[in-house]
Amino acid sequence: MDWSQIRAAVVGSGPSGFFVARLLLDRGAHVDMYERLPVPFGLVRHGVAPDHQLIKNVTRTFEKVAGDPRFTFFGGVEVGPDISHGRLAETHHLTVYATGLPRGSDLEIPGENLRGSYSGPDFVGWYNGHPDYAGIVDDLDGDTAVVIGNGNVALDIARVLVLSPDELRASDAPPPVVEMLAGSGLRRVLLVGRRGPREASFTTKELGDLGRLEAASVLFEDTDEILGLAASELEDSRVRGNVEVLQELASAGRVRDADRIIEFRFHAKPIEFCSDAEGRVRTVRLERTDGTAETEDVEARLVFRAVGHRLPTSHDLPRDPGGRHLAHSEGRLLLGQDPILGDYVVGWAKRGPSGVIGTNKQDAADTFRAIEADVAAGRVRKAHAPEDTFDAGAYSWADWQRLDALEREKGTHEGRPRIKFTAVDSMRDALREVAPPAQEVTEEHAHE
Ligand SMILES: Cc1cc2nc3c(=O)[nH]c(=O)nc-3n(C[C@H](O)[C@H](O)[C@H](O)COP(=O)(O)OP(=O)(O)OC[C@H]3O[C@@H](n4cnc5c(N)ncnc54)[C@H](O)[C@@H]3O)c2cc1C
Repeated sequence: MDWSQIRAAVVGSGPSGFFVARLLLDRGAHVDMYERLPVPFGLVRHGVAPDHQLIKNVTRTFEKVAGDPRFTFFGGVEVGPDISHGRLAETHHLTVYATGLPRGSDLEIPGENLRGSYSGPDFVGWYNGHPDYAGIVDDLDGDTAVVIGNGNVALDIARVLVLSPDELRASDAPPPVVEMLAGSGLRRVLLVGRRGPREASFTTKELGDLGRLEAASVLFEDTDEILGLAASELEDSRVRGNVEVLQELASAGRVRDADRIIEFRFHAKPIEFCSDAEGRVRTVRLERTDGTAETEDVEARLVFRAVGHRLPTSHDLPRDPGGRHLAHSEGRLLLGQDPILGDYVVGWAKRGPSGVIGTNKQDAADTFRAIEADVAAGRVRKAHAPEDTFDAGAYSWADWQRLDALEREKGTHEGRPRIKFTAVDSMRDALREVAPPAQEVTEEHAHE
């Protein structure tokens, strides 16, 4: 089949969706991108920490993809509830699922769901203005917070909790978030990892950011353990880099009066969260994993569980046997052992929550090889044109451009990168107030 006749649906507008869209467009296909939120970019907007503005600049590459005349964005359309997989299959020769892993993994210990205990990904969504999580944090009470996990998400959460008011204002965290974080009485963030410093899955750059914090210091429970590691003998360059950074942080070991503190606690795991009379976390019970099984109760009214990401339980596509991501072979979705004609997967939904934004580019290229082989062999679905059947009422790319301009304009007034819309209603209202250019009004503006 000729590529110019192919209409592909890409579900999800995070990095992996845009990387695979680029490859499809470059071969001449038409791409319809479906995104459950009115706004694009997945975890680049709602995951990458708000003080990491440079990283968020990758969206410029994605904007170029969206500028292709054969690209159409359908924002505010959730595939599943709003438009079925079957309907998408009727109107598109192929579908690429780039839906990520939106939920946090559970610890499965008593007290996990007490008030004050947050799933890491939910809390990240809150401080990044994700509409689903806008109201989830009532307060940031107490002087100690415990962050469970030894990956970049845990590190991001710990860092965001100790940012200074100036650092927060230079970020694009929404104003209520800035207010709550700046005003909290938090003094100490305990970062708990089951294993040792060499086994932690941080990336070195993220770890290095801790040494550049304006008003926070880093401490270790056992500084001698860190300083005693022979970094030069470590073969893995990431682990070696991490150990070197940890050693720099450990040798600095100075705490200024006004500082908040991030304290690393390796070789420990939570076994229970205990509540106060109101059903809120009061203490976190830690158990040593160094063979002693000693326990310690840490008084903390806030806990963040950053121990991985998973598929939502409501997800209706086939999962791999471990349930951690979608079932596939070389990017082709599988039902049992057999590939589903025309269905593919990329990104975190394909390989689990690993890798940085750039990792998804190679990953998209790998899946695209399977797509190319199938197209060459004529293994594509029959599809009819979607124009006469699609009526879900979507936000267009032009809508996003208007919202983006409004967010940046508001930010400029307040000396901030942008002030995000954090509710779908406020996005809709803002678009009503800003009349779209006449030629861009289409039937898809059903939300008006
Ligand atoms: C907290 C955090 C911080 C990170 N920080 C960095 C960093 O600093 N630097 C870096 O390089 N990487 C970072 N990463 C990793 C990076 O964000 C991921 O590698 C990348 O976003 C994965 O891309 P994806 O497209 O697979 O998924 P996502 O980015 O999650 O995109 C999935 C998209 O699909 C949409 N979607 C889901 N279901 C549906 C549906 N049914 N219908 C329509 N749309 C749907 C979602 O709304 C979302 O927009 C971070 C990750 C996290 C969690």
